[in-house]
Amino acid sequence: MPAPEKAFSQYLRLKSRVRQYGADGRRLGPADIISVLRGTNAAERKNIWKILCGGWRPFRAEGCSALVLAGREKTASSVADVFVVDSAPLLKALAGKRAGLQKELEAKAALVGANGFRYCDLWARLPDAGEPVTFEAAVKEIEAVYEGVLEGGRDFVRDLAGSGRLLFEGAEPRCVTPEGANSELVYLPASFKNPRPQEIPVIAHEFGHALHCAYARRLAPGKPFNIVFAEYFSQLFEELAWRRLEAAGRDREALRLGRLEQRVLDGLLTPAVLELEEYSVPAAKRGALTLEKLEAAEDRIFREWFNEPPLEALFWLRSERLFNPELPFHNFVYLAGRALAQAAAARFARTGRIKRAAFDQLVQDAVELDLRHWLAKYPDDAAVIKGAP
Ligand SMILES: [Zn+2]
Repeated sequence: MPAPEKAFSQYLRLKSRVRQYGADGRRLGPADIISVLRGTNAAERKNIWKILCGGWRPFRAEGCSALVLAGREKTASSVADVFVVDSAPLLKALAGKRAGLQKELEAKAALVGANGFRYCDLWARLPDAGEPVTFEAAVKEIEAVYEGVLEGGRDFVRDLAGSGRLLFEGAEPRCVTPEGANSELVYLPASFKNPRPQEIPVIAHEFGHALHCAYARRLAPGKPFNIVFAEYFSQLFEELAWRRLEAAGRDREALRLGRLEQRVLDGLLTPAVLELEEYSVPAAKRGALTLEKLEAAEDRIFREWFNEPPLEALFWLRSERLFNPELPFHNFVYLAGRALAQAAAARFARTGRIKRAAFDQLVQDAVELDLRHWLAKYPDDAAVIKGAP
């Protein structure tokens, strides 16, 4: 039996050999590509998508064999093997909403200068969508969101925003705990110094990670994070920030489109890749996964979720966020965490702030309980994951 790292290192080696070049022969980095995909020029988006996919084309067979190896290394054959609950009810609930999302994507295509849905427009933004606000104003909104959930939430946000632990650096928002440190650093892109309204939930999300880490360190010191709940608090505060902004009724169109990108990731792309993994892992274990079969499965699954063939076989596996052979059925973890966080946001929106002790208990449970015990303790959440009767 090969070591579990083997498929992952093969996958990373493969990824490191993929190259994309612009028309001038210059090598393109991820930041170059995403800035065009987020841009307003429909022709440029189409072109860079072709370049992006083209870089992966020569590696399809190798990508398939990395998947075969990953499938063989995995001790689990399905989501149910890892997490006790089955992915089918959650996927079914999401499938019930996909026609609506497909319609919204069609409508977005018209706004971003495309003639019908194209994958290359998933990240496209409208020119000047939403008036930028000051960072102070954004923080005020986020303070209100946090205070609405827990006593002292406002102070937490204010302290973090005003501290040297908030840095405007890098292309992607993130929250990290430096090696050996006992507080988190939150990184935001420099453009977030004057965020657009639709970026406020992103900031609320990263602050949620910082809060989760700080509380977990105090309440369950030294315990590793339960992966199912790694995004629970970040997504809870993100969701509540969206709700607050939407309820305020300003920048409606910018908010709707800003959120659509995330909803498509949660409601179409992640479920599609999860379904592909649910197909490919057992097939690899049986020794029955070939490139042809994998491509056919991908074609079928993407037609279901997007109403469009995937255009470029195995292309979606380029993303470690979507496919990580080291973390079996990671996409289920993501979707389950998302569904639980949304259910929690709906509860908080109803009940308002809870006692500090109750919030502490929630953080502690998110560290100490596995998904099965969590669902036994919180029956409403069980209905969310297992499909309400
Ligand atoms: Zn996150």
